[in-house]
Amino acid sequence: MNIVEKNIAGTTENEFSNGVSNDDAKKALELLLKWIGDNPGREGLKETPKRILKAYKEWFSGYNQNPLEILSKTFQEVEGYKEMISLKDISFHSFCEHHFAPIVGKVHIGYIPNKKVVGLSKLARLVEVFAKRLQVQEKMTAEIGNCLQTNLDCLGVGVLIEGEHHCMSSRGVKKHGSIMKTMHFTGVFLNDTEKKNEFIRSIS
Ligand code: ZN
Repeated sequence: MNIVEKNIAGTTENEFSNGVSNDDAKKALELLLKWIGDNPGREGLKETPKRILKAYKEWFSGYNQNPLEILSKTFQEVEGYKEMISLKDISFHSFCEHHFAPIVGKVHIGYIPNKKVVGLSKLARLVEVFAKRLQVQEKMTAEIGNCLQTNLDCLGVGVLIEGEHHCMSSRGVKKHGSIMKTMHFTGVFLNDTEKKNEFIRSIS
């Protein structure tokens, strides 16, 4: 797993993120506004670079978060529960790293615990950590699955992501409504088709 540590979230005016000052980032955005054919000096656009930086701090806040911290608190008093736990329809909003265009969709997660479980909201927060970075859907699917497998030491994890890629729906081939599905399995799911099917059924 690749944990990129950058300092985007939490920076304020005149601060630096990853060695780049907010001022320099704003200048780059002004240049981009000019490049698309507009005038960055006109009233409506004057504050736009500043607003874009603020939005980026939120959209890319995942670079500043450590998924291991999110999964550090687990519960063991579960009376020996050992069946699948699944959470479906975790909405996410990310950006594709090839076009800087939104990827919008849902993540479904299932895992079979090995003595310890994690709070449900932590699964949703884990999705946020990986979604709030530039992404490739295949990679994000594997990252979530592998992170859970390693840190919960569970018997197996299934992750299914459904994403609409705006780089394909609003430009290029312009196919609106096409949904890309990716799946990642670990542990017992790898060789157990019945378990895989149980996961798929639980999130359908
Ligand atoms: Zn793309």
